[in-house]
Amino acid sequence: MDFRFTDEEESFRSEVKSFLAEELKPGWSDHFDSESEMGVAVQGEFAKTFNKKLAERGWLAIAWPKKYGGMEASVMQQVIYNEEMAYAGAPVGFNMGVAWVGPSLMLYGTDEQKSEFIPKITNLEHIWCTLYSEPAAGSDLAAIQTKAVRDGDDFVINGQKIWTTGAHRSNWGWLAARTDFEAPKHKGISMFLVPMDAPGITIRPLINMAGDHGFNEVFFEDVRIPAKYLVGQENMGWYMLAVALDFERSSIAGSARLRRGLGELIEFAKANPQFIHNKPEIRTRLAEISIEIEIAAALSYRVASLQAGGKAPNYEATIAKLYSTELTQRFSSTGIELLGMYGPLHPKSKWAKLKGGMERGYQLSVSATIAGGTSEVMKTIGAIRGLGLPRA
Ligand SMILES: Cc1cc2nc3c(=O)[nH]c(=O)nc-3n(C[C@H](O)[C@H](O)[C@H](O)COP(=O)(O)OP(=O)(O)OC[C@H]3O[C@@H](n4cnc5c(N)ncnc54)[C@H](O)[C@@H]3O)c2cc1C
Repeated sequence: MDFRFTDEEESFRSEVKSFLAEELKPGWSDHFDSESEMGVAVQGEFAKTFNKKLAERGWLAIAWPKKYGGMEASVMQQVIYNEEMAYAGAPVGFNMGVAWVGPSLMLYGTDEQKSEFIPKITNLEHIWCTLYSEPAAGSDLAAIQTKAVRDGDDFVINGQKIWTTGAHRSNWGWLAARTDFEAPKHKGISMFLVPMDAPGITIRPLINMAGDHGFNEVFFEDVRIPAKYLVGQENMGWYMLAVALDFERSSIAGSARLRRGLGELIEFAKANPQFIHNKPEIRTRLAEISIEIEIAAALSYRVASLQAGGKAPNYEATIAKLYSTELTQRFSSTGIELLGMYGPLHPKSKWAKLKGGMERGYQLSVSATIAGGTSEVMKTIGAIRGLGLPRA
């Protein structure tokens, strides 16, 4: 592949950089009350205004067709945009409506669903959560038991979901439920759009190991939704879900965030040499990580260049996800060690260094190798689809 960006792409990069310089003046993050998990920034007032500005430019859903509020960006423009936003640490949050609900509706939704829901994703009226995982269905997602039973013009939903990121801040849910209990497990699943304030839905918080409320348990007790909220063909939801998971794994911002984090750590070590004095292993680890960040970026560019060439990446995307999430954990442990006794201090501590970012990163990066598919599952996909090994 050609690693150079074209003149047009470089000029788009400059446009994004100058927008960020204008909107995120030095010190902006001091006023930004962010509680974040896996990049899900809480939409405080600052973030809401920032995201509205992105929407006005067609950048919020940058890859989408113009008629749906996007700018029909090329794959490389998306890469540039994601890199610059991640590098700046911009409060873009992670918008599931943009990432997979909208794209799935464009592919499988009715005209009525498209006109009712898509504009409200880009104007931020609807915030979406994703209701896939259940207590006994995570890696083996096709084992879901939540059921949706047809009753006249409605479906009635009963069951439980878990690990639902942002359910407490969403007004709509993208739900996978079983509609046929006799069929083989992959063939009896359907996808639904669910208003999160429907009677019978109970959301209970789950506090993660970092002390944040990011995800939840969601209970459905005789929840009635109109049949017009079924997406695509009944019982064919698994295939839609597999496409939506591909949208999920091809994200690319990881290496840019790491590059920024490593840069900050190196600047800190230069300004405070006592922290690396007599610690040769930390110095070499920093060098190693800077090389590994380049590898992570190259793996992501590989995914992007396949997409740009009209090919659908699959094991390439899982390898990029595996490598960059594991690298995030190696980076965070190195940062914590470099800071020594200051490493584990929470951002609220007056003694915290680097605004407590290493402590946050260390605790939150644990889940990175679980969310969106575990490392073990990613390696299995790599072994079967990448190396062509037979299934175990
Ligand atoms: C931060 C975070 C946010 C999340 N947000 C959402 C969300 O918004 N919506 C949602 O629906 N879900 C969400 N999830 C759930 C996530 O998709 C699941 O946690 C993940 O798919 C793993 O499923 P599980 O937790 O049931 O673990 P399990 O599948 O029970 O796995 C347990 C262990 O067994 C291993 N394992 C399982 N099967 C195999 C196999 N075949 N071969 C080898 N090893 C195996 C796993 O790798 C893991 O180590 C989130 C999870 C996290 C951590």
